[in-house]
Amino acid sequence: MNSFREIAFSKPHIPGTTLGEIDKVLNSRWITTGPKSKEFEQGFCRLINAKNGVAVCSCTAALHLAYSVSNFKPGDEVIVPSFTFCSTINMLVHLGVKPVFCDILEESFCLDPVDIESRITPRTKAIVVVHFAGKPAPMKEITRIAKVNKLVIIEDAAHAFLTKYKGRYIGDSDNICCFSFYATKNLTTAEGGMITYKKKPLIDKIRMLSMHGISKHAWNRYSKSGTWKYKVLMPGYKYNITDIQSVIGLEQLKVALESRRKRLLLVNRYLEKLSSNKNLILPTNPSDKGSEHSWHLFTIRLKRTAKIDRDSLIEEMKKQGISTSVHFIPNHQQKFYRKTYSKELRLPVTEKVYKSILSLPLYEDLSISDVDYVASIVNGLV
Ligand SMILES: *Cc1c(COP(=O)(O)O)cnc(C)c1O
Repeated sequence: MNSFREIAFSKPHIPGTTLGEIDKVLNSRWITTGPKSKEFEQGFCRLINAKNGVAVCSCTAALHLAYSVSNFKPGDEVIVPSFTFCSTINMLVHLGVKPVFCDILEESFCLDPVDIESRITPRTKAIVVVHFAGKPAPMKEITRIAKVNKLVIIEDAAHAFLTKYKGRYIGDSDNICCFSFYATKNLTTAEGGMITYKKKPLIDKIRMLSMHGISKHAWNRYSKSGTWKYKVLMPGYKYNITDIQSVIGLEQLKVALESRRKRLLLVNRYLEKLSSNKNLILPTNPSDKGSEHSWHLFTIRLKRTAKIDRDSLIEEMKKQGISTSVHFIPNHQQKFYRKTYSKELRLPVTEKVYKSILSLPLYEDLSISDVDYVASIVNGLV
């Protein structure tokens, strides 16, 4: 048995060059949205082959903007997984849209196409897809359903930086994609997000909405070539990213593929060490040719035969120094949503999965021996 160690659930990977870059931004005295934000957008899009991107202050803001340009009207319905972070759904509610909770597939915890179809009504306008943990959702089937029923698809790609679906990165599709750079995500700017989309006119509108709906960026307004005059073209939000955040992201972009390889090593080690445990269901790589997991999360599932229930496992692992997390608490069972939209709703797979899942520590700065320690504790308890 290994001796006790303290292992955090998540830790951002901050390359040593980051501090110097932040220093340069501060010294330039241009600290909000500016040249570094533009560089970050371009570098991000180049890496995943996205046509256009707008960097914003969070994925929540990105989702709000994506929903805002989708021409939803109050009373419209949008199909969403209950099994996601609450912000995917909160932002619909702010637009007066009714979230229609949908069940997931057992093999990926992503939307179940058969269940999507059963929930479509004449009021349905869109499907919001979450690539859970960074495993791509079954986009071929979902796209077919969307085409037949004339629905928009919006991708919550918070977990899906460097996820590939059939040879293309998430972000290089026909849909609006929303990424998160929150502190726990595979690429972080402390807080931040990005919207990618192939068509420039809509991206221009999203950019404008992210900056009050005014016709010019502050960067243009205050730069030497800029003018003090601006027009408010529509009521917008204040969702821009700053150059301070953008350089944090830029330094991580430089090592993103290396970080990905490190994650894969750790994941393979977990799989190797846990695969003989008959009481566990382990996450798997996507089976489609050309599809790749980003491994944002490593989420295990306890079988009925396990010696311990999930909640007790969390407590016992904490005693051994290991922090874990649960992704996600189903939203249709959260008080506000249950009361407002889903009183009678049962989502059998979501509910079953929720009771038995646990996300283990996974980040670049974890060592192979840390993984061995976590795995040995899990094997001892489960
Ligand atoms: C993290 C997360 C978000 C929200 O991201 P923020 O950048 O914190 O706003 C949205 N959806 C999912 C699935 C997430 O995991």
